[in-house]
Amino acid sequence: MKYLLIVVVLLSFLGCAENQESIKEAKFANSIQTMRFDFYHHGNAEIEYFTFDEALNDGPWAGNSAKPIDNLRLGKYLFEVKDGSGSTLYSQGFASIYGEWETTPEAKKQWGVYHESLRFPWPDENVKIVLYKRNDENEFDICWEYDLELTHYKVNHAYAPAVNEVFPIKISGNPTECIDIVVLGEGYTLEEKSKFLADAHNFSNALSESNSFSGLKNNLNIRAVFTPSATSGCNHPHQEIYKGSALGVTYGAFDSERYALTTENKTVRNIASAVPYEFTAILMNDSIYGGGGIYNLYITAAASNDFKEYLFVHEFGHHFADLADEYYTSATSYEMGGTIKEPWELNVTIQTEHSAIKWNELIDPTMPLPTPWDKEKFDTHSIEIQKIRTEMRKRKAPEYQMTKLFRQQQNHEDSLFKTMENYGKVGLFEGAQYHALGVYRSAHNCTMFTRTLEFCPACVRAFNLVGERYLK
Ligand SMILES: [Zn+2]
Repeated sequence: MKYLLIVVVLLSFLGCAENQESIKEAKFANSIQTMRFDFYHHGNAEIEYFTFDEALNDGPWAGNSAKPIDNLRLGKYLFEVKDGSGSTLYSQGFASIYGEWETTPEAKKQWGVYHESLRFPWPDENVKIVLYKRNDENEFDICWEYDLELTHYKVNHAYAPAVNEVFPIKISGNPTECIDIVVLGEGYTLEEKSKFLADAHNFSNALSESNSFSGLKNNLNIRAVFTPSATSGCNHPHQEIYKGSALGVTYGAFDSERYALTTENKTVRNIASAVPYEFTAILMNDSIYGGGGIYNLYITAAASNDFKEYLFVHEFGHHFADLADEYYTSATSYEMGGTIKEPWELNVTIQTEHSAIKWNELIDPTMPLPTPWDKEKFDTHSIEIQKIRTEMRKRKAPEYQMTKLFRQQQNHEDSLFKTMENYGKVGLFEGAQYHALGVYRSAHNCTMFTRTLEFCPACVRAFNLVGERYLK
């Protein structure tokens, strides 16, 4: 009872701090508004189509108007907004649920349809939206063009976000000169608002303390929007735990037990538009390990799991900097192709020549390439853990046992790496992006490789490159 009282007092204090911060933050008003261009993306493994849905005002533009062009061109897709003369007013690379779904076995058997949004500064004349998709050579081909007339009956100029409570969590400055993140809550009941705010602070602290944001943490704006759900927790079809929640997030995406996504894009976007944002974090009020992160779409993460800090920053790596997973032994529902092409992600490569490696300026010229590491020792243990995990999943082991296993694995790996040659150095280490051979990462360990909270130098470099576009 005593502890409960302390928690209540602590949470009321947090609530109070929120109000004070809320008062401190000046109301953001930018004369440039955000256009949200909504469309349907449909098709199967062979073909894809796009259908315009509507365009609407998503509130003041939070991006840096001085840097409208995406020079990094990451992601499977990219869009450009062109004026009448054909000049590009704005561009942005992105990834999508559709882009993942079309590689799953399901897309070979049936059609799928996903709702998507593109966000850019509101144009002052009619524009052409050009959508590109990567081809096998990793270049972008046009896959859709749409002429958007501002007087079209499905273009709504009014800014009318869903009405939800907003809480500033961490404010560093003007949205147009900062990285703006909106935090949404999934599976929190009205009575669990304090827990949502505490989780939003945990998320904010995890990002601020992560070495991925070491060069950017003074430029982070994090605002939370509370979205109460009727029931507590998230939907778990594989464990036969069924819930209905505010944003439609469900575990089991693409039949992968711990992959959590929502396909209710319009709902998420309408709620997020209450605040200026570029990135979205959906915190799940759930203790079961899981989450997801898609470049320029959103992350989901189990905010009550023991590994929540790891889930927050790992998924944010996918969402913010389009980082590739660096692990290679886990079973995933993606189907891997035959020949390996140079990945576009900034933290993995197939190149072994110093001059061709993306992070070569960080590699000492005397470092052998590829860099020797005790891969066999790591793999032997990793395969052993995979076997135990498969067996535990089969017998539906309780979550605390899985947590214990993950903790043991992490401790073992941390100490194993420390004994290895070249530990702590930047190089070219074989094994990354689901491939045991032929794809390389920059260090022994990384948040995109194991459950450590320390990102490798190639990943930190990627965070800085992406983040630069949002700063002054
Ligand atoms: Zn990394």
